[in-house]
Amino acid sequence: MLLVNSTIKETREQIAEWKNQGLTIGFVPTMGALHIGHMSLVKEAKKACDKVVVSVFVNPTQFGPNEDFECYPRTLDSDKKICSENGVDMIFAPSAKEMYPSLCDSSETTYNKSESLTSKYLTTVKPPENFTNKLCGKSRLGHFDGVATVVVKLLNIIQPDKAFFGQKDAQQLAIIKQFTHDLNIPVDIIPCPIKREPDGLACSSRNKYLTQESRQKATSIYRLLKKVKELHDKGVNNINEVSEIAINELHPDISLEYLEFLNADSMQNQVKLSKNTLVALAVKLDNVRLIDNIVV
Ligand code: AMP
Repeated sequence: MLLVNSTIKETREQIAEWKNQGLTIGFVPTMGALHIGHMSLVKEAKKACDKVVVSVFVNPTQFGPNEDFECYPRTLDSDKKICSENGVDMIFAPSAKEMYPSLCDSSETTYNKSESLTSKYLTTVKPPENFTNKLCGKSRLGHFDGVATVVVKLLNIIQPDKAFFGQKDAQQLAIIKQFTHDLNIPVDIIPCPIKREPDGLACSSRNKYLTQESRQKATSIYRLLKKVKELHDKGVNNINEVSEIAINELHPDISLEYLEFLNADSMQNQVKLSKNTLVALAVKLDNVRLIDNIVV
């Protein structure tokens, strides 16, 4: 039976009860609008742990002032259904006030979204610059401080044995591995492969924003990445040459924010395509920002 908790207290009590019974806890943090990509993480968690907890929290501190925090899809009823069908044991779905009391008005559950307020009142986890000054970190200033802070909070609340994160958010995954190591947080971080639609588009909650026409154009994103892999397999490893050829695969209505080649673990820029090179991109079409990557 699926339990749904919105308070930290209830959640901690339930986790303590499971731990007293000697059960292991697997944790899948999400922002909701759950899809088969999220459920692939749940599947891994169920294989590895006795109890699986999914958090559903659209974390305000990781959204920039002009990003889609307000209109990010919130679909708790269907999230409950999909979790229940996939054998999740508990959803932790807190309010912004439960997570950030110091950032919310005393009588309100609404989050007061101001950067100065956050830096004034909230302890923030700041991941190393080497990991944040590239890829999405370049255009989403402060995004990974918000991610790291909420993930540390969630790990402290749930205290899981293992936490599962998608390779889809490769920079996020590398950062989480790094700060859990740096801060000695006792959890195993388990990376999970990218789940794709049959036509190759990576599953994402933001795919819901796409019109049917854009959805079709979006299939060219994975074609670009596959072209990089194909060139690598043929022995072409000059990054400028590879980029130039592969970018031609992208539909002309899609604008490329970045296409970067990094070492998948250290996040250092690569001069040549080689084994364990993370090829990551962000694009915009119809004002929807999508990310994807492959490791060659
Ligand atoms: P989100 O709700 O977008 O914050 O994602 C929650 C978790 O699910 C993150 O660890 C993501 O990397 C992961 N995730 C999202 N989409 C996919 C996907 N298509 N395949 C694998 N993992 C995913």
